[in-house]
Amino acid sequence: MAVTALAAVTIAGCSAPGFLLPEGELLRDVYVRGSPAVPAVALTFDDGPNGRCTEAVLDALAEHGTRATFFVLGANVATGRNDSLLARMVRDGHTIGIHGHTHLVPPLFHERLIRREIRTALAAVDRALRHAGVADPPRVAFFRPPFGLVTGTTARVAAEAGLVIVEWTVSVGDWHAGRRAEDVTAAVLARVRPGDVIVLHDGVETHQRSVECCVDRVAVAETVRRLVPALHERGLHVAPLAELLGFEAGLTSSRRRL
Ligand SMILES: [Zn+2]
Repeated sequence: MAVTALAAVTIAGCSAPGFLLPEGELLRDVYVRGSPAVPAVALTFDDGPNGRCTEAVLDALAEHGTRATFFVLGANVATGRNDSLLARMVRDGHTIGIHGHTHLVPPLFHERLIRREIRTALAAVDRALRHAGVADPPRVAFFRPPFGLVTGTTARVAAEAGLVIVEWTVSVGDWHAGRRAEDVTAAVLARVRPGDVIVLHDGVETHQRSVECCVDRVAVAETVRRLVPALHERGLHVAPLAELLGFEAGLTSSRRRL
């Protein structure tokens, strides 16, 4: 197996340090953070949509007029149970990115499989939004591979699909069971700097256990309620991802047929 195929930015939840080999244009369309000269950060949520947990996050963001990015899993979208949540993300001014379809790692190493992951996830998002009454769904422009794992194959196929890969700079283990909102908030505040991309989770991979009430990520909405005002107090604006990464003029790259 080619060395570049193994190059990884990091694996969330893994205590070993990540390694990085930017060969073969691996990182050409990979974004990690915004400018450190601009007092802004972006808030991102992975592994949704996930029923009441995602709804609670949307409520918390709305209370502060904050716009975030949701890297959704196609399989969670395809359940059909979260269509109205996706439509609300669009209406509330949030950004929808994709996090793959299955959250599995092996497809990231196989061109045919990662192409199918991306195509299936994009189709699921488009179908859900149209089903929920969004007649002209916004173009999905951002892709965060599961675990942030970037392979040469993934980078190439994502670029062909007109997708920009977005990693993160602040991840504090919010996915660990029992993490309290105040602890997650304190951990983010201890390390956040201008330009950072913060990752939190509103779901747990493809589990859909929060249809009736939020059982998967019970602290995530409260984390938003604590974190957003604290960031503002530090003079850090919570900006949409496109703004933070310098895509204010829009993402216009074409999407080839996958
Ligand atoms: Zn994930």
